[in-house]
Amino acid sequence: MGDLLRIREDLGDCQRCQLHQDRINIVFGEGNPSPLLMLIGEAPGEREDLLSRPFVGRSGELLDEALLENDLTRENVYIANIVKCRPVGNRNPEPVEMRTCGSFLYQQIEAIVPKCIITLGKVASEYLLQRNIKITKERGRVSSCFDFPDIFLIPTLHPSYILRNGGKGKSGLVADIGYGLDLALLGCAPDQMRKEVDHMYLELNQRKSEKREKWTHLY
Ligand code: URA
Repeated sequence: MGDLLRIREDLGDCQRCQLHQDRINIVFGEGNPSPLLMLIGEAPGEREDLLSRPFVGRSGELLDEALLENDLTRENVYIANIVKCRPVGNRNPEPVEMRTCGSFLYQQIEAIVPKCIITLGKVASEYLLQRNIKITKERGRVSSCFDFPDIFLIPTLHPSYILRNGGKGKSGLVADIGYGLDLALLGCAPDQMRKEVDHMYLELNQRKSEKREKWTHLY
């Protein structure tokens, strides 16, 4: 907790980018300071700006429901955004705004050291993967953070996107959070998991070719 307080103090009454001009409050992030899971969105919305808390609007309600379906509450996880101030009209944050504020997010990740990060939506996913993605195609696929290779990352759909689609995709959000929790509980790092999976495939292929040999001898 001490580290997070220090980072919040460093952030201060931030005026490092243009977003400070229209904000009411800075939305730093909140939750368990040493959780298994960290959830990251792109930027606060109107209600978040008013209350200085992440995901407390309609999309936050949906997120709470998805957490609950996995027997989790907000107290079990840490929730933050890439940028800490609301972009006017809820536009996507600009790259320069993300770069400026992202250094604070990175410090939060370093302080929290979650086992798995769930990125909510395309913007947050692309930022932490450092590449372009098609979120509807890549959601639920396990990988690791570009700058934190020891942390699992699962991109998922943004709750606002699900709401705009009349709730379609909610089961995916629930499943992705559940998958993230399973990975976090595995107790191994992404690289170790990859090695074990590779090893498993090698063994399976070995067994397959042995079987094939037996069969071909019959003919
Ligand atoms: N959308 C986000 O990305 N973050 C919030 O905190 C709220 C809505």
